[in-house]
Amino acid sequence: MKPESRHRCPRCGAPAPYEGNPYRPFCGARCKLMDLGAWLGEEYRIPGEPADGTPGEPETEETKPGKGLA
Ligand SMILES: [Zn+2]
Repeated sequence: MKPESRHRCPRCGAPAPYEGNPYRPFCGARCKLMDLGAWLGEEYRIPGEPADGTPGEPETEETKPGKGLA
């Protein structure tokens, strides 16, 4: 008999029960969902997501202090 009742979660490395564990090889639902989420996140990556700068940023105006203003 092999003492293989101790298994480690591939996600967080915590000891996870293997026998009678519906989430194996993960330690629990959380890690399983996290892993699934990672997979789905890669597959359903949203293309063309605007990621330039912060919204609501004030326009860069050439506001130079009083030159030519007389
Ligand atoms: Zn885990």
